Amino acid sequence: MIYLDSAASYPVLPEVQVALDKSFRELYGNSTASHKLGLDASEVIESARDVIADKIGALSSEVVFTSGATESNNIAFKSLLLDNPALKHKKHIVTSQIEHKCVLAICNYLAKFHGYRISYVKPNADGVIQADELAKVLQDDTALVSIMHVNNELGTINPIGDIGELCFKKGILFHSDAAQSFCKVDIDVDELNVDVMSFSAHKIGGPKGIGAIYIRDLRTRYLTPVVHGAGQENGLRGGTVASPLIDGFAASVDAFPRYYEKLKEAKLKYQFIEHLTAMNIDFKVNGNNTNILDSIVSISFPELDIPSLFRMTDDSIAIAQGSACSSKQIEPSHVLSAIELKGKLLENTLRLSFTHFTIWEDLNKLLESIRALKNND
Ligand SMILES: *Cc1c(COP(=O)(O)O)cnc(C)c1O
Repeated sequence: MIYLDSAASYPVLPEVQVALDKSFRELYGNSTASHKLGLDASEVIESARDVIADKIGALSSEVVFTSGATESNNIAFKSLLLDNPALKHKKHIVTSQIEHKCVLAICNYLAKFHGYRISYVKPNADGVIQADELAKVLQDDTALVSIMHVNNELGTINPIGDIGELCFKKGILFHSDAAQSFCKVDIDVDELNVDVMSFSAHKIGGPKGIGAIYIRDLRTRYLTPVVHGAGQENGLRGGTVASPLIDGFAASVDAFPRYYEKLKEAKLKYQFIEHLTAMNIDFKVNGNNTNILDSIVSISFPELDIPSLFRMTDDSIAIAQGSACSSKQIEPSHVLSAIELKGKLLENTLRLSFTHFTIWEDLNKLLESIRALKNND
């Protein structure tokens, strides 16, 4: 199987496998227990917390482990906003049209059941959310701004430092979903003026089912637990803490940047685009071409029947149509619609996302399939 879907989930790194194997065998104590095995588990959890805090310039006391970015995003909205006396009269939220589906789902819920008004900022034609566009929709009662760092369908990097500065000046909470940017783009929560940030392990070669949330000044904030429990994770998220997964997460944070460097050096994305150009095929690369990850590319082919390419390659090449979460539904991607792709361009879009072991031969196989499709027409 040729795997070109790392933005949906990155394959588990060898270092992570070693850590998981060891932890699952040896770290079976409950981290709240006072015996040696409990303390061992607790130590691993705390050192992983340090690793993640260090990576983003935060304090360890500001990092909470969750099941992944979806849960972190839920905490960012619901734990910070609901029942918070200081934000009681602030009923407006600003987000964007290109957020991950889970953020849009949370916003729908808050609008429907908690009386929030939501403004969805539109990206520019390059798929980037601009701070000056966002400034226009802020209101006196804006409680939270939530803008993703890197978009999962396009790979575009949003200027969250500019947006953070704007929010800081206005005293508005700023959250960013960093599931796609963590360990790929430098993050310093102070420099970027981010108050809350979401992370996921499986997007960087860690295990599925573990992630984290950064909350500035966590201990002084009024937070409603998403899961009420026995006080774990600052009382925000009850349940026995998943020490083996957390150990694997820390191993991925440590190892991933080296693999990502290798991926960047290979420059396969740019080679692929050059070959498409040489093939004399009509295509459009979606998204800004300067402020974008090297590991993701979204390409539309107005003259090709891309759904039939998927049928041709389903068993041999893993690629995404638009994005993973919408690929099994017939409705077009909300991200591609937001950048105003229409008709044939909208229908015939591929998202390729590479790993460090992607080789040119893999992409060449895909090019061959595209060539065959072109000649069939
Ligand atoms: C994958 C992804 C998520 C969901 O992360 P999970 O850890 O799978 O819950 C959220 N936001 C973005 C931008 C993502 O790419």
